[in-house]
Amino acid sequence: MTAQGEQAAPQWGSFTGDQVAALTRGTSFLAEPRERDCPACGRRAVRAYLNAPPQARRPTLVSYVWCSACHRFVGTRAAHPAGIVVSDPLAVLSAEQRRELEGSLVGFLTHLDRLWDSGVLPQTFTAAV
Ligand SMILES: [Zn+2]
Repeated sequence: MTAQGEQAAPQWGSFTGDQVAALTRGTSFLAEPRERDCPACGRRAVRAYLNAPPQARRPTLVSYVWCSACHRFVGTRAAHPAGIVVSDPLAVLSAEQRRELEGSLVGFLTHLDRLWDSGVLPQTFTAAV
């Protein structure tokens, strides 16, 4: 027993390799941008944010995937599927604000989680004509 009382903030940690593999099964987030089951805690609370960095040499999609319930996360990079346009709710930020936000991964994930709670995320994915 500890006498710490309430914790100020939940600890963030990485998904294990098996959990990441479980996350990649099933429909892709691009096709169905909604919460899915967490392979770690079992709650339907896994969320994602995808970003196409403009400075990437090849069309790339960086994805941030996290569980809102148990605060595990994983970041991945993949080729940007041709013809898919990714909206970016963070485009309102200046380059400096964005750099600052992304400077702390935990801070960034906390920010994304709040955006999801307020309905800004999930973003939309549309086929370019
Ligand atoms: Zn979880």
